[in-house]
Amino acid sequence: MDETQVLVVGGGNAGISLAARLLRGGADGVTVVAPQPLHRYKPLLNYVGGGEATMADLERPTAGIVPDGCRWVRDSVEAVDADAMTVRTRGGQTLHCSTLVLCPGLVEDWDATPGLQPAYADGWVASTYVPGSAPQVWPRLTSLRSGSVVFTVPPEPASCGPTALKPLFMACDHWRRTGALADLRVRLLLPARHPTDVREADEILDRAFADYGIEVLRETRIADVDWASHAITVTSPAGRQVLEDVDFAHAVPHYRAPSWIADAGLAADPTPGLVDVDPTTLRSRRHGAIWSIGDAAALATRPSGGALRRQVEILVQNMAAARDGKPLQRYDGYTVMPITVSRRKLLLAEVDRDSRPTPSVPFLDPMKPRRATWFADRYLLPRTYWRRILRGKL
Ligand SMILES: Cc1cc2nc3c(=O)[nH]c(=O)nc-3n(C[C@H](O)[C@H](O)[C@H](O)COP(=O)(O)OP(=O)(O)OC[C@H]3O[C@@H](n4cnc5c(N)ncnc54)[C@H](O)[C@@H]3O)c2cc1C
Repeated sequence: MDETQVLVVGGGNAGISLAARLLRGGADGVTVVAPQPLHRYKPLLNYVGGGEATMADLERPTAGIVPDGCRWVRDSVEAVDADAMTVRTRGGQTLHCSTLVLCPGLVEDWDATPGLQPAYADGWVASTYVPGSAPQVWPRLTSLRSGSVVFTVPPEPASCGPTALKPLFMACDHWRRTGALADLRVRLLLPARHPTDVREADEILDRAFADYGIEVLRETRIADVDWASHAITVTSPAGRQVLEDVDFAHAVPHYRAPSWIADAGLAADPTPGLVDVDPTTLRSRRHGAIWSIGDAAALATRPSGGALRRQVEILVQNMAAARDGKPLQRYDGYTVMPITVSRRKLLLAEVDRDSRPTPSVPFLDPMKPRRATWFADRYLLPRTYWRRILRGKL
């Protein structure tokens, strides 16, 4: 059987930045299991959908970002035996470890929305959340001159769900400039009452919805999609409603955690099956040598790449503290939601688990939409991601 000290499942933002950070701290015996040949900086997907970036801007070969000294097993995990501390891969390998960190992210739950997957295949629906369809979003949006368009924010669990508002606002700004906005019916489905549950941010976003004339359907989610007749059935506390004759829908799928987490007895609930960790220490409530961060972990906060910077830092400290019998650090649920309110202005909601603002730059209100924040989100953060975050320097 194959042996390793620390086994990290998943080569996304969480897995690679954690492995890099551990290795910089002097760890050896770090293995990452990750199947995908390409690594994506996902926040730029929304800029692809807003006509401000290309897929080439956000994709790099995984081989180039796996940190020096880290072993990369190019395979995907199919099962975990938590008691034996082993994982089995699709390729038939069994890997044994002393410490297991689960960060496989979320998977699309296509079964939750009948008709949605064929609608993607047809091209009537596309979204920035489904990378294969993201390059279609901006051309489809900008080709609309009149008619009806629907946008959705995905219900939790979702990867930084409120950022699905970025293509909406970038498109509305474009339509206003070209004069098409007045002839378009723009509807937004919000899964909750408010877009972010952060009061200051919600006030700004509600003003922006009103300003662009966006009809907001609150506490509403897609029940099913009829791609042949271009109709979307939605449910809300008021009941079911059919949105007919939709010309284009930026409809984000629903998400869940990979099912092998629940199969291994490591999830709190089979659905959505997130890893059951203590949300403050990041340690599994069921197995002391198992940890989890990122989108697949039940951390009682909105998952985001920004949240991961804090999670990785605390996890590295807590893995060492657990080994040395010292007290564990506590994660306050810090997360970020960067949302464009026009083509080139962005507000940044940085909050803790209780939606209390926790700005990382003092004296500069990040909630105020600014061009400088937009520029930082579009251009500076991606550079920081590739050069520092994935190298365990931040
Ligand atoms: C469209 C979009 C826009 C976003 N915008 C922002 C933003 O503006 N700001 C922000 O802070 N955050 C944003 N996010 C969120 C951020 O990208 C995620 O929170 C972050 O990528 C989560 O990292 P992760 O490693 O947990 O999961 P992922 O990035 O999903 O990585 C998980 C990895 O695990 C691999 N994996 C899956 N199953 C297995 C398996 N069985 N075995 C081995 N490996 C497996 C996957 O292939 C994947 O590479 C956005 C996300 C999306 C989708």
